Amino acid sequence: MVRDCRADLPQGWRYLVTTYTPVIRRLLAHYAPSAGDGEAGVERVLLGLRLPASSLFQSLDPAPERWFVAELRQAVLSALPAPEAPVSLDLETLAGALEPLTVVEKVAAWFETMHYDDAATAEMMRISPATAAKVRARAAELLRGKSDAWNRTLLADNGLALGREAAASGGKDCASPKVLLDILDGRTTWQGREVLERHVTACWHCVDHYARMMEVIALLRANRPLTDAEAAPYFRALGVTVERPSPWKRLFARR
Ligand SMILES: [Zn+2]
Repeated sequence: MVRDCRADLPQGWRYLVTTYTPVIRRLLAHYAPSAGDGEAGVERVLLGLRLPASSLFQSLDPAPERWFVAELRQAVLSALPAPEAPVSLDLETLAGALEPLTVVEKVAAWFETMHYDDAATAEMMRISPATAAKVRARAAELLRGKSDAWNRTLLADNGLALGREAAASGGKDCASPKVLLDILDGRTTWQGREVLERHVTACWHCVDHYARMMEVIALLRANRPLTDAEAAPYFRALGVTVERPSPWKRLFARR
């Protein structure tokens, strides 16, 4: 699919629309619920992905599905305007305040910047909602102690901007998507990987990346591809409608 989309072949776009439009729809509903332009927003994202400037298909070959959806998620969110937060919070202040937390606790707190409540966070992290709530209450206390102004929605209000800052802050020691997925799939654990754990503990780029990978896994688990009829308006918007020859035409062609 990635190769076909890069070459702008209709079959690539048809596959992308059918399979991943529900992911785009969910991301928009989750991260920009007030944008309120529903299907027009979805269409705008799809058209944006097709622009030559789109980086979605540039560096992914081969492209295992989860890596692709992780890039798709970033492409969808990069187009959203970051609203002005009533109280602003930058990554450095957050990092300083939440320094005492463990990696797992940092991830649980970070999910708040990604607009997930305790229950959704707990499900993605496979921890109990009570644990998620407890960690977040502690994170809130730590932040409160370090910021001049504080409010209950501080992390969520600054979420998009913090996510962008974290995504842009990576370095050469950062964990690759493969390493993170190996941990998430249970092929390896943090135990015995002290160097990595020490790095991630101090690196919000990796904390964000790890949380985003969990989100991608949850998105794919819940994903249901569109039917041809549901996908038809998007095919039309992208100009990739393929008319099936009518049975009559086929009949005549055989003669
Ligand atoms: Zn890192």
